[in-house]
Amino acid sequence: MRQSQLFTHTVHEPPKGATSANQKLLTMAGFIDQIAAGIYAYLPLGLRVLEKIHAIIREEMNAVGGQELHMPALLPKSSWTPTGRWDSAADVMYKLKDTSDNEYCLGWTHEEVITAIAKRFIHSYRDLPKAVYQIQDKFRNEARPKSGLIRGREFGMKDLYSFHADQADLDAYYPKVLDAYRKIFTRCGLETKLVEAPGGSFTKTFTDEFQVLSDAGEDTIVYCPSCEWARNKELFKEYPMKECPNGHDNLQEAKSIEVGNTFKLGTRFSEAFKLTYHDEAGKSQPVVMASYGIGPGRVMGTIVEVHHDDKGMIWPASVAPFDMHLVRLGDDKDVCKEADRLESTMEEDGWSVLHDDRNDVTVGEKLNDADLIGIPLRIVVSERMHRQKSAEVKMRTEKQPVIVPVKEMGEYLAEYRKKIGENS
Ligand code: ATP
Ligand code: MG
Repeated sequence: MRQSQLFTHTVHEPPKGATSANQKLLTMAGFIDQIAAGIYAYLPLGLRVLEKIHAIIREEMNAVGGQELHMPALLPKSSWTPTGRWDSAADVMYKLKDTSDNEYCLGWTHEEVITAIAKRFIHSYRDLPKAVYQIQDKFRNEARPKSGLIRGREFGMKDLYSFHADQADLDAYYPKVLDAYRKIFTRCGLETKLVEAPGGSFTKTFTDEFQVLSDAGEDTIVYCPSCEWARNKELFKEYPMKECPNGHDNLQEAKSIEVGNTFKLGTRFSEAFKLTYHDEAGKSQPVVMASYGIGPGRVMGTIVEVHHDDKGMIWPASVAPFDMHLVRLGDDKDVCKEADRLESTMEEDGWSVLHDDRNDVTVGEKLNDADLIGIPLRIVVSERMHRQKSAEVKMRTEKQPVIVPVKEMGEYLAEYRKKIGENS
C-alpha cells in the first residue's frame, strides 16, 4: 500500500477531551474517528488491526467447535418477554419504535435471541452439545464512555453460546473455552489474569473475567502475586479474604481492563424459553447453557494501552496493520526505484507493506509518523543507504537500527519471520 494513496494521514494534535492513550494515539494516527461519545468509525488502518483480531478469535473459536452465525442487531420487544429483561435491563438498552408503534431495542447481548433459535433445532440428546458464535456490534447506553475503544456505546463483540445436556458436560467444555481465550489474548500480545467476578444481569453465580493490568482500566482487581488467584474488587468486597486459597497473604490491588467474560448460565435461559430435549430415557430435560464474550475493539484499545511509548503505538506483529513500514527518504530516482523494488519483493514473499512514498514530507515527519503508526519493522531507504547497497532496519521496540545489505534482506526477513512465528 502506497502511503501517498492512503485515505487518512496523521494529525499532530490529540482529539479534544481525550484522556486515554488509545483514543489519542489511534485518532492521531488515523486508525479511528469519533462520531459521538462512545461511537467510533474504524478507518482503513484501524480496520486492518480489528480484522486481524477477528481472525485470531475465529481460529480459536472454530478450534473449540464453535460454528459462526450472525444474529440481527434490531430486536423486537417480544424477544425479551420470557426473561423479563426488557424491563430489568432497561438502563442499558437503546429502545425505539417504528411508525406502527412496534417496539424494538438494539441488541446489547443475544442470550434470548440464540435460545429462541436453538429451540427450533435442539430436541434430543443427539442434538447436544452445540456451540455457536458471532462477531457483531452491540449497543449499550454506557453512562460515561470516555476511554476510547475500551468503552463504546456501539462496540463489537464476539459472543459464543454453548448448549449441553447436563452440568457435567458444560463443566468439561467450559475450561476448553477458557484455554481458547488465553490463547487469543496471548496471540494479541496481552497478558491476562483470570478473575472471579459477580454475575451481573446474566447469572446469580460467579463468572470468569479476563483482565489485563493497566492504569487505564476502569476495574480494580485483587490478586495474588505469588500464584494465579485473582478476584474482582466488587466481588472481593462481598467476600473479603486475608489470604488467597493457596495460603499467600501478600494480596495486591491493581487497576485493570476486562477484555473477556465467560458465564455459566445453567438453565436460566432454557427454562425461561422452555428449551428442553429428550434424554436417552425419553424424559424431557432443560438444556444447560453458557455464554462467552470478548470485545475485539476493547482488545484493540487495550493493546494500545499496554504497548505504546511517548512517540506512538507499538503493535505486536500478530495484529499490526502492516508487517513492514518501508520508508523512502528523498526523491532521488534511483532510490525511488530501489524502494519500489523492495516493496514488490517483500510483497511477493508474503509480507504486507506500507510504503511511505510521499514526496512532500520531511524526513523528520516521515520518521515520526512511522513511530506513531507503530508498525513493528521499519525499513528505511535513502541516498546514503543506496550508495552502500543497504537499507536501515529498525524494530519499533528497539532504539537503534541495523544496516542490512539489500542482497541479504530476504534472508534477514526470513529470520525475522521465524522469530515472530515463535511468539505467536
Ligand atoms: P463492563 O463491566 O466493562 O461494562 P460488561 O461486563 O458489561 O463490561 P460483558 O457483557 O461481559 O461486558 O461483555 C463481554 C465483553 O465485551 C467484555 O469483556 C468486553 O471485552 C466487551 N465490552 C463490554 N462492554 C463494552 C463496551 N462498552 N465497549 C467495548 N467493549 C465492551
Ligand atoms: Mg463483563
